[in-house]
Amino acid sequence: MTQPVVLILGASVAGVGAATELRRCGFEGRIVLVDGQPHAPYDRPPLSKAILTGEATTDSIALATPAELSEKNIELRLGVPVAALDAPARRVTLADGTVLSADFIVIATGARARVLPSACSCEGVITLRDLDDGLRLKQVMASAKHVAVIGGGFIGAEVASSARQLGLEATVYECESLPFLRVLGPAVAQRLVDLHLAAGVKVKTGVRVEQVSRAGDGFSLRLSDGSVHPADVVVAGLGALPNVEFLEASGVQVADGIVCDAWGRTSHAGLFAAGDVANWAPTDGAARHRDEHWTSAREHARIVAHTICGQTGPVWAEYVPYFWSDMHGKRIQALGTPQHADEVRFVFEDETKGAFLAEYLRAGQLIGVAGCNAAGRLMKYRARLVPAPASIQPQALKETTE
Ligand SMILES: Cc1cc2nc3c(=O)[nH]c(=O)nc-3n(C[C@H](O)[C@H](O)[C@H](O)COP(=O)(O)OP(=O)(O)OC[C@H]3O[C@@H](n4cnc5c(N)ncnc54)[C@H](O)[C@@H]3O)c2cc1C
Repeated sequence: MTQPVVLILGASVAGVGAATELRRCGFEGRIVLVDGQPHAPYDRPPLSKAILTGEATTDSIALATPAELSEKNIELRLGVPVAALDAPARRVTLADGTVLSADFIVIATGARARVLPSACSCEGVITLRDLDDGLRLKQVMASAKHVAVIGGGFIGAEVASSARQLGLEATVYECESLPFLRVLGPAVAQRLVDLHLAAGVKVKTGVRVEQVSRAGDGFSLRLSDGSVHPADVVVAGLGALPNVEFLEASGVQVADGIVCDAWGRTSHAGLFAAGDVANWAPTDGAARHRDEHWTSAREHARIVAHTICGQTGPVWAEYVPYFWSDMHGKRIQALGTPQHADEVRFVFEDETKGAFLAEYLRAGQLIGVAGCNAAGRLMKYRARLVPAPASIQPQALKETTE
């Protein structure tokens, strides 16, 4: 009997995670990991932090070296992106015309940075998603004095923090009344803005950057209030869009990412999605969504690998959404779904350590927790936030491929 083949599209947290978890589950078939980039798999979180400050190198952020993958008999094909997918036939065509077929395909193509509309931007504005972006930003920051960050989300905040660590001036431009508002609510969002202010980051809120243009060796930013601001480096941190274009003619259901169930199964048998590209259905009946965080990508990958191996069960309902961010020497963490809360209460403060912890409630029920430099306390909430057991069982491996 021939061994099954798993083809994994995208060699980052979700893709490498799925490949290694398949081997951990005892999968003995062929595993082929494909990525459009030429670089060996690397981790993205350091790109806005330790890569910029010089505390990490390209080597130190490796997710898995080609030798480590080869030891696990995982084939790596780098440098040629997937151009098209034939979903019923479970076959992909690479940009160089190579055709690869498989029994199972895991789509883990992640997301790319959203860019400013070309009409209000100019060449040289940097977005941060891939290793080359991080290395380029590091290089331009080396000769800069002032970094402007458009968008006050976590990646933007981390870039501003890294800039300050390097002794540069940094300004964050945020069109909402507060950065982090939708994710963490006003009270905690204000605490994070206070971290910026204490570290010397200027934060301009409630204004839109309407035009970025070249001015001498640097840039000029025109805001919606009519003011004009100079900068040497401009970074757009505007969120990310799922990489699904190659699925256009595939028939795979796409709606803000690849629509899939709580086991990563897509609209087509044998085809799975994991990580930032997956519009994943939680088991607790909450709305389907894309979770653009490292830990979610890794968990999706584990779930998909176990589903392919037919080893799934309600255990997967135990996943509690989690993310972290590092800024100004502080670790910010959140568990659960603080974005859905209607009440927030601070339950721990330590001003000497700049630490705090806030509980998030909805209709009186605890649904999340967020903290700063409070990892031990925060993680104790995990058990309390585990969702109700899944009501559906995934079908057996055989059924999903029929
Ligand atoms: C700068 C930065 C900092 C971050 N910091 C944090 C943090 O502090 N905490 C946190 O929780 N999360 C953080 N994240 C988010 C986290 O890194 C992502 O959630 C995670 O990388 C998602 O992994 P993924 O495998 O789904 O997708 P990605 O990491 O996006 O990888 C997708 C891979 O697919 C490849 N690909 C795309 N299209 C194709 C194609 N057509 N053919 C072949 N290959 C393709 C890409 O080259 C890429 O290697 C950060 C992200 C960035 C960019």
